[in-house]
Amino acid sequence: ISYFTRMREFNHKLQALATHDPLTGILNARAYYARCDQYIMAANRKSENFSVLFIDLDHFKSVNDTYGHSAGDEVLKAVSATLQASIRRSDLLGRVGGEEFSVLLPNTPTDNALQVAETIRQAVEAAMPNIGTQTLRITASIGVASNAGNTQSLQSIQNEADQAMYLAKAAGRNRVSLIAQSMVQHAHS
Ligand code: GH3
Ligand code: MG
Ligand code: MG
Repeated sequence: ISYFTRMREFNHKLQALATHDPLTGILNARAYYARCDQYIMAANRKSENFSVLFIDLDHFKSVNDTYGHSAGDEVLKAVSATLQASIRRSDLLGRVGGEEFSVLLPNTPTDNALQVAETIRQAVEAAMPNIGTQTLRITASIGVASNAGNTQSLQSIQNEADQAMYLAKAAGRNRVSLIAQSMVQHAHS
């Protein structure tokens, strides 16, 4: 094969390394947020509805403490595969923290986003990843936020989804939460 073909393949590999998380193979935080930002700017111009999910695994530290860090890594890979399988090709999924994931749902109002979040919550709970001879029950707390037809920055909608995720934690984990619009604290900057 030609030098040019090899160079093009190499560039593709470099591109994938720069944008994907090496453990799980899904988008890394930087690439995920960059793609969200692009989409959100266009969606705001078109007054299109969209939603964001913030997914944090429950008591993940105890998975590491009980089974070891490499078992924890295997669980993160399994959960990522479950998340990927639960969303549409047009949705964006990123690993935005150690055991934290975010999903952007284009063209999706709050009601539908809540359904997607509940489907994901159930899929994670049902997946029961295998670690050696053990089968683990992993659960997630999921916060949902939607732009509700208003212009919103990536930052403000991510903050809202994050706050909603903490409500799910406080309410007992393994659940989906939404912040009432009247409670949303818009960041002023
Ligand atoms: P909570 O239900 O409140 O979210 O509890 P938690 O234990 O999930 O929360 P906490 O933030 O205390 O702990 C997150 C844990 O995730 C701690 C850290 O060791 C683990 N973690 C983060 N990144 C990785 C990773 O790449 N691999 C493994 N194995 N563990 C990770
Ligand atoms: Mg966390
Ligand atoms: Mg956690």
